[in-house]
Amino acid sequence: MKILLTHVDYIEYEAKKKAIEAAENIEHEKERVEECLVAFCSSEEGDDESVIQKTADEISKVARQVNTKTVVVYPFVHLTSKPAKPQAALDTVKKIEEILKKDYETHRAPFGWYKSFELKSKGHPLSELSREIVPGKQAEIKKVQQKIGKPTLRSEAQVEEYSEHDHRRIGKDLELFMFHETAPGIPYWLPNGLIVLNKLIDFWREEHAKRGYKEIAAPLVNKSDLWVTSGHWDHYKENMFIADMGDNEIYGVKAMNCPNAMIVFGSKTRSYKDLPLRLSDTDVLHRYELSGTLSGLLRVRAFRQDDSHNFITEDQIEDEYERILEIVELFYGIFGMSYKFRLGTRPDSFMGDIETWNKAEASLRKILDAKVGSGKYLVAEKDGAFYGPKIDILMNDALGREWQMGTIQLDFQIPKKFNLKYVDSSGEERTPVVIHRVIYGALERFIGILLENCKGNLPLWLSPVQVKVLTLTDRNIDAAEKIHKQLLKNGIRSELDSRNNTIQYKIRDGELCKIPYLLVIGDKEEESNTLAVRPRGAKPQFGVNPEEFLAKLLKDIEAKK
Ligand SMILES: [Zn+2]
Repeated sequence: MKILLTHVDYIEYEAKKKAIEAAENIEHEKERVEECLVAFCSSEEGDDESVIQKTADEISKVARQVNTKTVVVYPFVHLTSKPAKPQAALDTVKKIEEILKKDYETHRAPFGWYKSFELKSKGHPLSELSREIVPGKQAEIKKVQQKIGKPTLRSEAQVEEYSEHDHRRIGKDLELFMFHETAPGIPYWLPNGLIVLNKLIDFWREEHAKRGYKEIAAPLVNKSDLWVTSGHWDHYKENMFIADMGDNEIYGVKAMNCPNAMIVFGSKTRSYKDLPLRLSDTDVLHRYELSGTLSGLLRVRAFRQDDSHNFITEDQIEDEYERILEIVELFYGIFGMSYKFRLGTRPDSFMGDIETWNKAEASLRKILDAKVGSGKYLVAEKDGAFYGPKIDILMNDALGREWQMGTIQLDFQIPKKFNLKYVDSSGEERTPVVIHRVIYGALERFIGILLENCKGNLPLWLSPVQVKVLTLTDRNIDAAEKIHKQLLKNGIRSELDSRNNTIQYKIRDGELCKIPYLLVIGDKEEESNTLAVRPRGAKPQFGVNPEEFLAKLLKDIEAKK
């Protein structure tokens, strides 16, 4: 499918004469549509359902961007050199029209006619775009669409309400992250955002060290041999960034941490006494997601996971899952965000034998039945990883769309592929089982969901700036500086605003930056050695003792408030 999109003041078309036998019968020969997005569509051989959906999505996306409520689907064979057969092409445009009708006033120009047309393009940057939409990866596209769903924001109030939650807007307003066209889907972390990311990782690191996890870091670029061994070359290559360095040296950019963790496990002789061996890491991963599916931080092409590969014996499966689920409860409890579990079973493209799969699936069902109760979790048939079944943790964004966050995957296959062994208590060599697990999931996505859920009002411990000290007049600069430095010395992320603006202006500025505490220092505070504290979203407090304020801050940060 090739499409050409034009945002116009108007389009007028007139059916003149049948161009093909299969031309459809029409009621109106002539039509004029004002202020609309015109989508010229050329159906091509091989276009399938995924192409229809994706074309409609693309048209819909641009219509939203140019803020029009009217769309004209215009069959236009001349964009392609390999057109679909007429009946198939007509069916395709009709289906696209049907999908668009749900959200837009949709017109369609007659199919199979010679038409004259006149239009007036608006000439802004988004007013002319062309796209090629190819079939293939159909299952994946469907899956992605199922997961993303489509925002249906009809009223202006809904649009306004969502925009307050939209993590992309929050990220821009609070200067957390940005994107650049030279790296589509790959976020730049700005200083404020990197604080949030690092704090989440610090917390993860502390809690996992307490539980016997050992952190590693591994090569980000690996020879294709590694991915062949792990099975990813067969099952995942199309989603990887590949570097062909010539002389038969082909490298794959790390898209998942598993193979490298296997290499570390296999680098020395392991005994049953070493198990569970929990090798954790947060290396940056790259995946070539389809450009149409990229969505702020929620679907990106580069991200970090709070990953770990836990090598265990078969007897340790349930106990290890139990320990991991405890971490899930701790982490998700801290953020007060609700979540659900979903079991993913054997996909069509799987590795290994069915008996082992059945055993693994039964183990996970048993664990979930015990944890949340039979029937109280979702089951996604065929959604397991190719190497084993999994338990996913799902959360909603501000639009109510469901996203996969953490995942705990059981794997009997990849350790075999890497010929991993440990020596059991009777001196026999055995293959370990591995649990691949992430709790936050992709940290980028987790931050996106977190921002949407709290509208950018991050908890104190994660806020890039925790306190801002504002001077009432220039006379108070020294006193304000002293307090600011005292806070910094105690590890509080403080900023000083001693600009020569009105206090109302400075307060408003601090509020827009969603800073948890604003301190106003005026003559009164200076004389009495107290603070005027404005907590975010609450009434100001006057005459606050500075030591008590600091003690409360440190206590709340420690408690991850
Ligand atoms: Zn893994």
